[in-house]
Amino acid sequence: MTLIGMVPSGVEARKLMINQDYVEAVLRAGGTPVLFPVTADPNRLSALLDQVDGLLLTGGEDVDPALYGETKLPCCGECSAARDAMEFPLCREALNRRMPVFAICRGIQLLACVLGGNLYQDIPEQFGTGLRHTRHDVPADPVHTVGVRPGTLLSSIVGVSPLGVNSRHHQGIREPGKGAVVCADAPDGLIEGIELPDRPFTLGVQWHPESLSARYPEHQKLFNAFVKACADHAGRSS
Ligand code: MN
Repeated sequence: MTLIGMVPSGVEARKLMINQDYVEAVLRAGGTPVLFPVTADPNRLSALLDQVDGLLLTGGEDVDPALYGETKLPCCGECSAARDAMEFPLCREALNRRMPVFAICRGIQLLACVLGGNLYQDIPEQFGTGLRHTRHDVPADPVHTVGVRPGTLLSSIVGVSPLGVNSRHHQGIREPGKGAVVCADAPDGLIEGIELPDRPFTLGVQWHPESLSARYPEHQKLFNAFVKACADHAGRSS
């Protein structure tokens, strides 16, 4: 059994939330999703990672700009102090363990920040208005393409370029951080995918493959490859 640790995609009214699309995408890939509780206690985070074979960082609120050394501007969206306090050390610890990490939307932004990179607090305000990246009106169908860079893990998994993606973000990656390789770019030049080479599956994507994966097989392939990497990781460490 391959266990996939997932951070909640929301903490509202003192209740944990997970978008069921993540659960179903992992189940279709043959993995068993495990929803983590929210805690910033490093010993408990370490104990949680002991129980799983890979880490899935889900979408959600904006990363607090203080975590990349900036002041929060009015254009920045809502942040979650509880999620930041949990997910920074959790992601760092998973990377230290060379555990597979799949980082989606907020997740890729968090991964970049953990690696010392930084973000556009708002794409129209700080990057440009050439392409609309905030398309909550079309959550589960492609609204723009990304160019998939040849020779990357992403390219080896999806096997096509350009790839159609959904887009439910108003922030984006400005600098991807130390050791990160860009693997996907939107037509306006915005970074939409980063990965850490020479590791088991450590990939971030700015779109939401979990919402596309039921109907678009190339997006399900991302979860299949992630769960396979987690199974291999479990095999090596047992
Ligand atoms: Mn986009």
